[in-house]
Amino acid sequence: MERVYNFSAGPSMLPEQVLRTAAAEMLCYRDSGMSVMEMSHRSPVYEEIIGDAERLLREVMNIPDNYKVLFLQGGASTQFAAVPLNLLSEGGKADYILSGQFSTKAYQEALKYGDVAVAASSKESTFSYVPQTNRSSFRADADYVHICFNNTIYGTKFPYIPDTGEIPLVADMSSCILSESVDVSKFGVIYAGAQKNMSAAGLTVVIVREDLLGKARKSTPTMLDWKVMADNGSMYNTPPCYAIYIAKLVYEWILELGGLSEMKKRNEEKAKLLYDYLDGQEYYSAPVEKASRSMMNVTFVTGDAELDKKFASEASAQGLKNLKGHRSVGGMRASIYNAMPCEGVEKLVSFMRAFAARNPKKQ
Ligand SMILES: *Cc1c(COP(=O)(O)O)cnc(C)c1O
Repeated sequence: MERVYNFSAGPSMLPEQVLRTAAAEMLCYRDSGMSVMEMSHRSPVYEEIIGDAERLLREVMNIPDNYKVLFLQGGASTQFAAVPLNLLSEGGKADYILSGQFSTKAYQEALKYGDVAVAASSKESTFSYVPQTNRSSFRADADYVHICFNNTIYGTKFPYIPDTGEIPLVADMSSCILSESVDVSKFGVIYAGAQKNMSAAGLTVVIVREDLLGKARKSTPTMLDWKVMADNGSMYNTPPCYAIYIAKLVYEWILELGGLSEMKKRNEEKAKLLYDYLDGQEYYSAPVEKASRSMMNVTFVTGDAELDKKFASEASAQGLKNLKGHRSVGGMRASIYNAMPCEGVEKLVSFMRAFAARNPKKQ
């Protein structure tokens, strides 16, 4: 069977070049005589892989030297707890911006640990936009402010980086990391599950400013303590070895293409194709405010649940897979991460045109 265009929100497409390299090295990685999956994480050959992964990620994202890069397990959802456990002092405060389901989950998890407040929310409009904030939105004595930079389910992205003054800004970037460059120095912590835009499931990357380490409360499980992980080079225990290796191949692929500026250019082109089409017709509507549109996850609806269902199943039959929206919002969602080729988006737009022509709506 041919490879399809997979619009899944995650796990999602990986670059073909990465999969081919992984396939070629599957049985025997270089002169090790074994698969990366079979090696000791403490062997020199694996030390080189994880070392290269960190070095390349630093290069791709231009991560300043006063930040640690951690390769962890447990997904972004585990970080929902790790963030307060590492940053929220006993009796301390944290402020959350609610811009979708994942930021709400992060907030609910943090509520278990202290005085956690909602600084701004777009829940009243089903998260169709990213709320505006300014310094006065946040409590001056908060230990941190948490945001979800790209809202995977609703298809919105922060069009700005909140100004939190001296308060560390913590961002869940699971679904937009590596899609364009970000100024890492504006954030105290960036974390991301790798299965959207970086690697296979199983790896979670945390980028944390050094001065924020060592503040974990006593009861923090060792495995969630960023300082322990940093002091042990992400090898307190067995790291997600294979997913780190795949991430390394993805970083190499991005650098070969020309880095994040080229990646952004390609992502903008793809997103523009889809949004320009959506804006120029009336059959489908895009529920999200223009200023908050995501470049990675594009949501749209026909306005008729039956037609939405038919759309996803007919698209699937044509090799355009996983276009059904998240179970909590319905409609359609096209996740067009880094590895989605432009032709995939062109095919999707042609399909949308043809589908609209074939399925006139009942008046
Ligand atoms: C997918 C996703 C999550 C959940 O990630 P897991 O790795 O499955 O825990 C959290 N936040 C965002 C923004 C996501 O897209």
